[in-house]
Amino acid sequence: MPCGSTALSAGLIPAAGTRFQHSLGISDSAAQFAADIRRKAHDETDPTIVDVIARESGMTVEWLADRHGFPFTLVNDFDYPGHSVRRMHGLPTRSGVELIDRLRQTADQQEIPILGKATVVGLFADAERVIRGVEIIRPNGKREWLGCQALILACNGYGGAPDLVARYIPEMRDAQYFGHAGNTGDAVLWGQALGAKLLHMSGYQGHGSVAHPHGVLITWAVIMEGGFQVNVMGERFSDESRGYSEQAAVVLAQPEGKAFDIFDERIAAIARQFEDFRQAEALGAVIEAATIGQLAERLKLPLSALVESFREVEAAKRTSGADRFGRSFAGRPLLSPPFKAVRVTGALFHTQGGLAVDDEARVLAEQGAQLPNLFAAGGAAAGVSGSLASGYLSGNGLLTATVLGRIAGRSAANLVRGGNRSTRLTGP
Ligand SMILES: Cc1cc2nc3c(=O)[nH]c(=O)nc-3n(C[C@H](O)[C@H](O)[C@H](O)COP(=O)(O)OP(=O)(O)OC[C@H]3O[C@@H](n4cnc5c(N)ncnc54)[C@H](O)[C@@H]3O)c2cc1C
Repeated sequence: MPCGSTALSAGLIPAAGTRFQHSLGISDSAAQFAADIRRKAHDETDPTIVDVIARESGMTVEWLADRHGFPFTLVNDFDYPGHSVRRMHGLPTRSGVELIDRLRQTADQQEIPILGKATVVGLFADAERVIRGVEIIRPNGKREWLGCQALILACNGYGGAPDLVARYIPEMRDAQYFGHAGNTGDAVLWGQALGAKLLHMSGYQGHGSVAHPHGVLITWAVIMEGGFQVNVMGERFSDESRGYSEQAAVVLAQPEGKAFDIFDERIAAIARQFEDFRQAEALGAVIEAATIGQLAERLKLPLSALVESFREVEAAKRTSGADRFGRSFAGRPLLSPPFKAVRVTGALFHTQGGLAVDDEARVLAEQGAQLPNLFAAGGAAAGVSGSLASGYLSGNGLLTATVLGRIAGRSAANLVRGGNRSTRLTGP
């Protein structure tokens, strides 16, 4: 069964100018989305790729909805860091399992064969670096060969390869990897062997809010809606609103590598739209308390420090100004009992570096132009987040998996049909 990190995700896809936004009176455009991506990525990304992805994001979500019946709705009860408007689209359960199941069903309906239990162990390329096929290995050790006229690498990045993480992202070498274990960097290794260009290899998506020890994602809504984090000493330590990706390393740098998300019942009600959050509650990861004193006791935190953290956040909410970390709580109500808390840690979700591609998702060579018939999308391709964890704008992962994936499919089909005669292939 297909799963991957997509099945582990919350399944939220950012897209601009969609009918889902229009119906809620939200005005957005590809240009505004592209500007948000570039700003968060510290202007490190290729503007041409960003523009194409932002432009095609709306049509990709509407194509999945209108042509293939995906029942998307817009997440419209909290803001994601870095997005100037609300543009996260999700399926009813807000879970990646639902997204991957619908993708699989759609592939079935289109009679697109999917081979399970088949690990690709190598590519066959000729002297011109035209990919002629792949070698797969079955669980019983049997090897098989498949010819191809074009190949799209959609095998994500190298989060599941500790040696590659240590080499490219040393700050996360000891962090828990929270993505799919099968993502062991094959696209990068094959690309290197073919002389492909690698880009932004130190970039990654982390998350600073994974329930510990339960291992369940706690949505960043609990922070963005007016919650905050304290460390095991009960003290705040950062501007949590900058983004959940960069917060992974910040939380891991705290004593014991742990923190507590602090919020209240109003915020929990918003978070409950996420399947993950409901699971976390069922597992007992979400602690409830009627008073700050009871909360300190249940979390085993020093009372005076926790009271001071609450006081500081309340003061910031009352003045609407920036606090000592530079965070503004403007428009966020004061927390009120019953209070909620989750013990969390930071984790590596997926890598953002990968094969450099052009605006048709064709893999670029280190020297020269594109490889003749090799495409990459999702985590196999370099993302649009630049070289730093802080460059990751919420949703950049599924954005390039879906939008660049659709572009790659279209480009590969054009190539095979002879749309691009200069690279037209003959025979398998
Ligand atoms: C907990 C969590 C929550 C997330 N939430 C979101 C979110 O809400 N929105 C968002 O935009 N992003 C989110 N992300 C990131 C997002 O999941 C990924 O960016 C996205 O799923 C990448 O898609 P992909 O198709 O590139 O890879 P995957 O979905 O990981 O698929 C790659 C597949 O390729 C397989 N594979 C690898 N190598 C081989 C090989 N040699 N042979 C055969 N198969 C191979 C893997 O086993 C895997 O099944 C989240 C990530 C995590 C971990």
